[in-house]
Amino acid sequence: MNAIYLDKEIQKSFSQIIHEACKNLPPGLVSPIDAEISLLLKLGILKYSVLSNGSTFGQQLLNIKYENISTFKQILYMVFSCMDYVKIRCELWNPSHDVNQRIFTFYIIFKILDFINTSIFLRNGVKPLLIERILDLNQVYASEKLPRTFESKYLARELLWNGFIEILVYTLPLINYYKIKRLFKQYNPFYTKSMYSSIISTRVITTQSKCAHCGQNPILPHHMGCNHVFCYACLKGNQTADSRYECPACGHKNPNIMCERVSA
Ligand SMILES: [Zn+2]
Ligand SMILES: [Zn+2]
Repeated sequence: MNAIYLDKEIQKSFSQIIHEACKNLPPGLVSPIDAEISLLLKLGILKYSVLSNGSTFGQQLLNIKYENISTFKQILYMVFSCMDYVKIRCELWNPSHDVNQRIFTFYIIFKILDFINTSIFLRNGVKPLLIERILDLNQVYASEKLPRTFESKYLARELLWNGFIEILVYTLPLINYYKIKRLFKQYNPFYTKSMYSSIISTRVITTQSKCAHCGQNPILPHHMGCNHVFCYACLKGNQTADSRYECPACGHKNPNIMCERVSA
């Protein structure tokens, strides 16, 4: 079952690459032959997996293969894989045609058999695919001696990375970069304080005024003593997070946590 899932994933990733490559072509060019592309892709993957090694790529990853698969069975396996394509094409071509009707009937029988096969598989756990039951293909371990350690190794690494990314996603927004920057400045002996600290009593707000924190037009303009303007949310939020918040533009210190509305 895992092998089937892996096979599907491999095919999906290949078709994603093809779609990426065809993205910039004119839209009407690729979509009519979409079914052909996916069929070619499927056959190509099968040629290099089942025809040359007697197992699909997913099975190779899990160290299993088909027992006693002959060339005839391999070719039947390939033909079977084209079923979906034939059905899609017939639908587009001429649904009321006599041959098509027969193909549809065959397809429906095939699907019913597939359903029955899946039910049997769920009971006894062998041959998940209908084609495997028809051709009497058994899955065996490719090499008995090789311990299946690699699987758990990859799994552990995957879990570790997922956990790490989750931690990053949750903690990154919690870090107050302005506070860290301020602390760095404070303990950096080479940092020269800006001489510019003329405090003016009137701050003119024009359409060009930008918030010193977020760089957008200030919403509910407030100030902290210097002549820079902040959004109320930007200033108040930073002051709540860091009581010694300095103006990011001029480095103005504000010991009494000033947050006043700018008079228009
Ligand atoms: Zn702002
Ligand atoms: Zn300032």
